[in-house]
Amino acid sequence: MPYNRRMTDTAIQQDADLAIIGGGAAGVMTALQALRHATQPLRVLLFEPASALGQGIAYATPWPEHLLNVPAARMSALPAEPGDFVDYLMQAGAFAVEDRAAVGARFVPRHYFATYLQQRLAEAMDAGPATLQVVPQAVLAMQRDDDALCLRLADGGRRRARQVVLATGNNVRSMPVPGADVLALDRVAEAWDYEGVRLLAGERAVGIVGSGLSMVDSVLGLLHAGQTGAIHVYSRHGLMPLPHAHGQAASYDPQPLLAMTLRQRLRALRRHAREAAAAGIPWQSVMERIRPLGQALWQSLGAADQRRFLRHVVRQWDTHRHRIDAGVHARLQAALQSGQLQVHRARLHGVVEADGALQLSGMVRGKAGHWPLGALVNATGLETGSTGLRNPLLRQLLAQGMARPGPHGLGLDVAVHDARLCDAEGNPHADIAVLGSLRIGSLWETIAVPELRQQAEYAACHAVRERQAAMP
Ligand SMILES: Cc1cc2nc3c(=O)[nH]c(=O)nc-3n(C[C@H](O)[C@H](O)[C@H](O)COP(=O)(O)OP(=O)(O)OC[C@H]3O[C@@H](n4cnc5c(N)ncnc54)[C@H](O)[C@@H]3O)c2cc1C
Repeated sequence: MPYNRRMTDTAIQQDADLAIIGGGAAGVMTALQALRHATQPLRVLLFEPASALGQGIAYATPWPEHLLNVPAARMSALPAEPGDFVDYLMQAGAFAVEDRAAVGARFVPRHYFATYLQQRLAEAMDAGPATLQVVPQAVLAMQRDDDALCLRLADGGRRRARQVVLATGNNVRSMPVPGADVLALDRVAEAWDYEGVRLLAGERAVGIVGSGLSMVDSVLGLLHAGQTGAIHVYSRHGLMPLPHAHGQAASYDPQPLLAMTLRQRLRALRRHAREAAAAGIPWQSVMERIRPLGQALWQSLGAADQRRFLRHVVRQWDTHRHRIDAGVHARLQAALQSGQLQVHRARLHGVVEADGALQLSGMVRGKAGHWPLGALVNATGLETGSTGLRNPLLRQLLAQGMARPGPHGLGLDVAVHDARLCDAEGNPHADIAVLGSLRIGSLWETIAVPELRQQAEYAACHAVRERQAAMP
């Protein structure tokens, strides 16, 4: 998709009105909204080195066992059209024998979400006065250049833009096991290398470091690819994602939680869960009730309570908040019961390769543990700490003072009300907006589609307004 039919060669040489860095779900939703909202000519550049748009890490899996962890009815890319993803699934005939309500309630394979975004973007490219050019390059650096921002690309090229949206998305955490970095490539895989994980399947035991959603993907991938050997999961806490449940909605008023301390909130939520259970309502409904308040709950906590949350509560929170389809949960339980899947609450010390096998070592409840393995998977999830960000562009922005770490050292410092990136002194850049996981320190809930679609629309409308204001 080099550029759409109205993009002339002259337009390609001009400064872009809007450059979107990252063509995962958030970047594509921003491009889509810019194309839909523009009422005047608007030149948009979308930088994405991956071969397909809209995939990022989450939606790049082609495998049907990797499901969305949100029902289809809540995955629209468009805030004003909540049924749009279900419309797409119905039009595509994805689940031909089911009615609309059943499709909306489904946790559908994740690859559908990427093809949905691609289709909606293609449709928007031929409607309206805006033009989009997709540039298949990573942006390595960004500098201020008079009245524009100059982007340096991986191929050595440069492009200038008046407004920039940083949609660089999820950062993968490095494997925290000494020795893993020198293992042979056929012994180790990243959980998000969906094909690489499948290639490890066989008779030999596979170890997975991390026990969250990426672990679930890896276990499913291995089992579907014919793993007959054991699967060992290692994490410090040993907590695994909990299942979604269908049931009546919990009816308590969540607003009073906003005025409480962390301790009071946890007590209140436990009480609501007990009361719900007594009324035959699943605890999951209690969590659903506070889902729309995710950002407000974080922002209304004091800094000390936010630190306590990060230190003591976050693991439990993640397993309750980021739940999985009940069928997937049942599949994992069956593997646990059969003994093929084993979860170790372990502190890992290192891994070495010897005599054709890996030897993983660590401590389990004060005792030394040694596990012979055929291969190891890194499923440690997302890196949210700013010091662990490996993206060259983000490192350059931090190193040159165009950005600074966000609250608690998480992500980047981004103004809450208008999503502007803040520089090393805390001054917002009027022309750089940030979307998604980089805003985690100030928003907490900023990674899933319900938040991303709002952020994308806001950033796109802002750029459209700026362009209109600058027109003679
Ligand atoms: C395994 C998994 C499953 C998930 N399932 C769900 C779900 O079911 N529902 C839900 O709502 N959310 C889910 N999420 C949350 C998910 O993070 C978001 O839905 C969404 O994928 C995030 O999109 P993003 O564009 O912000 O980031 P990403 O998907 O990470 O995309 C960022 C893109 O930016 C590109 N990029 C990065 N740096 C540069 C650069 N310097 N120059 C150019 N391009 C760059 C990358 O190549 C990438 O394509 C899931 C997350 C994961 C990891």
